[in-house]
Amino acid sequence: MADSDYARVIDGAAIAAGMRRRVAGQTAELARRAGVVPDLTVVLVGNNPASEIYVRTKLKHAAEAGIHSRDLRLPAETTQAELLGHIAALNADPLVDGILVQMPLPPHIDADVVTEAVDPQRDVDGFHPTNAGYLAAGRPALTPCTPRGCIVLLRETLGDLAGLNALVLGRSNIVGKPMALLLLRESCTVTVAHSRSRDLPELCRRADIVVAAIGRPEFVRGEWLKPGATVIDVGINRVERDGRRGIVGDVAFAEARAVAGAITPVPGGVGPMTIACLLDNTLQAACRRRGIALPDPSNPSPLGERVG
Ligand code: NAP
Repeated sequence: MADSDYARVIDGAAIAAGMRRRVAGQTAELARRAGVVPDLTVVLVGNNPASEIYVRTKLKHAAEAGIHSRDLRLPAETTQAELLGHIAALNADPLVDGILVQMPLPPHIDADVVTEAVDPQRDVDGFHPTNAGYLAAGRPALTPCTPRGCIVLLRETLGDLAGLNALVLGRSNIVGKPMALLLLRESCTVTVAHSRSRDLPELCRRADIVVAAIGRPEFVRGEWLKPGATVIDVGINRVERDGRRGIVGDVAFAEARAVAGAITPVPGGVGPMTIACLLDNTLQAACRRRGIALPDPSNPSPLGERVG
């Protein structure tokens, strides 16, 4: 096959870098016009090595975008009551715009209780039931970063998404469900599949857009795809092959590239978008909480959300 016969590889790293530059410009404008510097606190309980890397990367990019950021590191033995006490203090701090509690939490802490404890206006992960409800109702909300990032990639790749058949593989609260709602907001015809769905290959074959978020290495095969489909691979699966460790997505990339029209790589696709959307959510939270309009309204967030 000639190179042109293969799917376009969607450069999530480059698109995310553009989004971070846009946020940095708006943050600088916000500081100049209103004297406001958005403030993000990331709470990390315990020392999960992957979480340590995620938190470091988030703080680095936040600082580069002009967002004041810090981590609140708590020992693994922290009780749920102690963690809730820290969150209550952050909720009450007038300087704090965004609070992100890094998941997973140690098993003795109920993640749902913690998610609900974060002030919805500071919930830059978009996981609070209030924000989930606003999203379901089609109202402006702080929206989960990973699905938001997927929509930005789809818009960059396809332009208008209206009328396209979209299949979301996975129905988690942090990816699959909000992804389906955001695609619906784009006027796609949306199907959500999960572990009890029948005949996934057939569902895939009908889809112009496939978003895979199931956490199964290379589960989606090339032969399942409709020729020319756009494939967004959210999966991050750590694998060991021939004695070497690596990361693969939920889609068999090489096979899918020979059939699809465009596809995200893993890594370098959805991952960088998640962080760029976190920065944008923090900027939006800072403006919304103070009732000020986003700087440079001619260049709003990629979803066209308005503050107010
Ligand atoms: P999750 O909470 O474990 O949910 C997985 C979903 O996939 C569930 O709805 C499950 O169905 C479904 N599923 C599992 N096995 C399946 C199968 N064989 N066939 C069909 N559906 C199946 O996972 P998540 O948090 O949504 O994350 C999904 C993946 O995305 C993971 O690899 C995760 O690491 C990755 N991720 C990446 C980013 C990023 O920034 N790139 C962010 C978040 C997550 P049931 O509901 O029926 O159990």
